[in-house]
Amino acid sequence: GASAGVKGLAPYKPGRPIGEVARELGLDPAGIVKLASNENPLGMSPKSVAAVQQVLAVGDARYPDANGHDLKQALAAHYGIDAGWITLGNGSNDVLELAARALVGPGQRIVYSRYAFVVYPLVAKAIGAVGVEVPDDGLGHDLDAMLAAITPDTRLVFLANPNNPTGTFIEGERLLRFLEQVPPQVAVVLDEAYTEYLRPEQRYDALAWVKRLPNLIVSRTFSKAFGLAGLRVGFAVAQPAITDLLGRVRQPFNVNTLALVAAQAVLADADYQQRSYALNQQGLKQLSAAFDALGLTYVPSSGNFVLVKVGDAAAVNDALLRAGVIVRPVANYGLPEWLRISVGLPEENQKLIDALTKILKG
Ligand code: PMP
Repeated sequence: GASAGVKGLAPYKPGRPIGEVARELGLDPAGIVKLASNENPLGMSPKSVAAVQQVLAVGDARYPDANGHDLKQALAAHYGIDAGWITLGNGSNDVLELAARALVGPGQRIVYSRYAFVVYPLVAKAIGAVGVEVPDDGLGHDLDAMLAAITPDTRLVFLANPNNPTGTFIEGERLLRFLEQVPPQVAVVLDEAYTEYLRPEQRYDALAWVKRLPNLIVSRTFSKAFGLAGLRVGFAVAQPAITDLLGRVRQPFNVNTLALVAAQAVLADADYQQRSYALNQQGLKQLSAAFDALGLTYVPSSGNFVLVKVGDAAAVNDALLRAGVIVRPVANYGLPEWLRISVGLPEENQKLIDALTKILKG
């Protein structure tokens, strides 16, 4: 039979795929816009595409490099870190789960905030740990309350900055003060899935903090600003003691060959990274201006999505689907009046804005 933790699990519900919505509503998939999973609206970097094509042209039937040597070297050079402190993951979801499996036993506690990324409670349940949800600070994280929630049997803290689904941001100085107060026997996964979207004045360097914080695990992904959500690459940076533990529970070939080369290629594509950032800033402005015009409350976002309050979000979501726009309801986060909308291309954002205006204003 299933373990107690797994029996209590509801599966992760991703943003609905375009094909599924098209089939259900009898719509042309080409006319559907998906702003539901915080993907990169630019598509993959041309350098990633070329790297993947090169591998396919050879048609190699071998296993991927189990250690991801070349990608780790490229990451080390790019971020000024030690390649031996990197753990690669099949997306950063993999990294989150590795941390929990490596560091937390059944019945031990994992602390995270209310409105934190939904995978944290899922991972806690799956391994039979006790997930401790700390009350929020008005949609953001209450760091003092999170510290206070740490008990002797707490092993792990999950914290995303910027946070999904709220888009809230904790300033670097405050974040570091928090990390320094977490007891050394408790590891912290600082989930930086959206860090590339921070504005210059918001930026801080948690990868450098790892050098003096032996309990810090920084998690990053190639799924967002680097455009590789479909290929699945993420990574963790931590000191060797933790990295060794993560390596023990990692599947040997968890990152495939195409993902490895595509990630290495986009890391070297500064132009694509710049375009991703600029497009997102422009899209955030476009969406905020439209929400302002509609008189809607929204959370100023530091990510590539916006949480906006629309009232009966289930009904608005259904109407948006019928208009060919897929967004993300967040009732499963306890936010039944809100929708999370990913930043798309300008014309995709406009389609969303037009549909939403029609729904809300008749
Ligand atoms: N962390 C956060 C905060 C996220 O929003 C996401 C993507 N939804 C992830 C991690 C996981 O992304 P991936 O597995 O694609 O790296």
